[in-house]
Amino acid sequence: MKQLRYLPAIDFLKSDNRFTDKLKMNYLSDSMLTDILVEQVDKVRNEIINKRIEDESLTREELVTIIFNRFDRAIADFNQNNLQRVVNATGVVLHTNLGRAPLSEQAITQLTEIAKGYSTLEYNIRTGKRGSRHDIVEQYLTKLTGAEAAMVVNNNAAAVYLILKAIASGKEAIVSRGELVEIGGSFRVSDIMEESNVDIVEVGTTNKTKITDYERAITDETSLLLKVHKSNFKIIGFTEEVDTEALVSLSKTYNIPIYEDLGSGTLFNFTEKKIGNEPTVQQKVKAGIHIISFSGDKLLGGPQAGIIVGRKKYIDQLKKHQLARVLRVDKFTLATLEATLKTYLNKREREQIPVIRNLLKSAETIKEEAHKFIDKIVHKTPLFTYEVMNEKSKVGGGTMPEVELDTYVIKIIHDHLTSEQIAKLLRHYEIPVIVRIKDEAVLLDFRTVNEDELDIVVNAFLSVHE
Ligand SMILES: *Cc1c(COP(=O)(O)O)cnc(C)c1O
Repeated sequence: MKQLRYLPAIDFLKSDNRFTDKLKMNYLSDSMLTDILVEQVDKVRNEIINKRIEDESLTREELVTIIFNRFDRAIADFNQNNLQRVVNATGVVLHTNLGRAPLSEQAITQLTEIAKGYSTLEYNIRTGKRGSRHDIVEQYLTKLTGAEAAMVVNNNAAAVYLILKAIASGKEAIVSRGELVEIGGSFRVSDIMEESNVDIVEVGTTNKTKITDYERAITDETSLLLKVHKSNFKIIGFTEEVDTEALVSLSKTYNIPIYEDLGSGTLFNFTEKKIGNEPTVQQKVKAGIHIISFSGDKLLGGPQAGIIVGRKKYIDQLKKHQLARVLRVDKFTLATLEATLKTYLNKREREQIPVIRNLLKSAETIKEEAHKFIDKIVHKTPLFTYEVMNEKSKVGGGTMPEVELDTYVIKIIHDHLTSEQIAKLLRHYEIPVIVRIKDEAVLLDFRTVNEDELDIVVNAFLSVHE
């Protein structure tokens, strides 16, 4: 273990060009760089002691080179953020693992504006006194949905929890067995109900629930009729679900409110555009549902949030509940949500909200973009072969599971790299590019790639080709 003696002093290493050059770049501080350096020397020392560095013929210089190579890698690792931007070339529009909805330009502008300085988060400019953060987006939401009142919490799971806790805790809520769903990331409606101390009364069977099933289950303890939108699955075949009108009429007869967890909840009518069969929030309000909740970052195309709209009587109850403080949203959510909702009021959602734009993108447009990509790259990457073919894109995010959007993908094969190897290299590009793999080929779906991201994908492929 004579190499232990070769390990140089930190001060000696700090005078080396390989250290001072990094310091001159002035990106990482002297103290940060020194910490990284000390860490590498410690690791190498341990490896010598544990005989993982064994080569007795290693010279002092070679040992120093090992340390500096690792130093460089550690700096590169540090510079890479854990939460980093990626290019989504999977075609899955609401990719939960990739952060669901990208924000509109308008929302991003408002986000940076509010992040930069102080804001009127809880301040009333008119009176110069304390204001309420609840007021920031409530009027936009009531105007857009036709509801009497609205509020926003952290996410839709939080909304479900708050509503059950505030309206039905210690009492009974009736729900169809066909709707006791689990929504990705182990969010189970039945668990949330138990957690909120609600007595669940399950009615019907998995595939069939009739209005008489609900009616028979009503007791003096019933405080809520709960409907959960089947966002991420579809029961097909011999099924029956109680329609909204029948349920509203039942709720009137017995004077029990209905709460519907809409899940993705859209303000935009996708059904009119022949995409899926999602009811809009407006339709549900009009039908007479008393409380409705939905996500901010699914089909709405805004920030993560749980949006609750409905009768003022209930929304007031929610706002006053202790939990509302625990589940409240921050100024960044409100800033981006305000901008997003204004886009809807301004009727520019088709052009400005990326989720809607991507879902409405035609197969022909995607095909043109695919060819643009190939034209840019084909002559520089002879080891790749490209083929444009018909495929389907998914909505994702547990939304409209049955919907398949017509698209064109580029099927890409490399002379000697496997599809997994290509995907891995693309993932490790400085801006990671995430692709689909199908039948041993890499598929690129430009539905989810912005025009200004095209060159990133091109450069990522050039880097793989090298
Ligand atoms: C997605 C979803 C949720 C959870 O919403 P988050 O905003 O992710 O918390 C709850 N209920 C349904 C029906 C959903 O589809």
